Amino acid sequence: MADEPTGTNPEQNHAARLDALAIQVAGCTACPLAATRTQTVFGEGNPDAPLVIVGEGPGEQEDQTGRPFVGRAGMLLDECLLANGITRKHVYICNVLKCRACIIEGGRARNRPPAPDEMRACYPFLAEQLGILRPLVILSVGAPSAKTLIDPDIRMLQQRGQWRDGGAYCRHIMAVLHPAFILRHGGEEFQRFRQMLIDDIGSARRKVIEAKKQAQPALF
Ligand code: SF4
Repeated sequence: MADEPTGTNPEQNHAARLDALAIQVAGCTACPLAATRTQTVFGEGNPDAPLVIVGEGPGEQEDQTGRPFVGRAGMLLDECLLANGITRKHVYICNVLKCRACIIEGGRARNRPPAPDEMRACYPFLAEQLGILRPLVILSVGAPSAKTLIDPDIRMLQQRGQWRDGGAYCRHIMAVLHPAFILRHGGEEFQRFRQMLIDDIGSARRKVIEAKKQAQPALF
């Protein structure tokens, strides 16, 4: 890629730059979420992945482990990736927010939707992270992610699964249902939404293959 210094391994370069950014994020106190987090959740996976998955923010288990998409929602995401022959080694996974958004009720911290101010405060980290990763394709998981990366007025059930120009972030971007949303449904609806996520990930896999072919430099 044009911005890589010659003589370096691009993958190592991405990894080193992501590590440096993760250290900055770990010390961030730019919004009130710093006061209630156990730790920041920066992101993980293949630093040279052509496909990046961007969710909303850490929940309780992510806050405890420091890893994105663990717990039931993470297991469902893994299952839908695997249905398309994709594992976490093939992709990079992160969130818009790097700290858990929660409220304390009855002495217990409960997840809550992030406030617009918190999303705005954290956005520069995501922009820099995506600028380092430079994926071909992004899957924007859930409404807060899609409103940040695609369209503030997006309607998830109507507009998920539609490819858009990735603008500054990547070549192609698509909004997909959040596994936590899918898990809030039962029976046939659960199966229908789960299949939508599987199908959308399959579409992303094909989009990566197509974009890689287009990225091949002409020999003559
Ligand atoms: S959510 Fe983002 S901006 Fe807020 S403290 Fe955490 S890292 Fe900083």
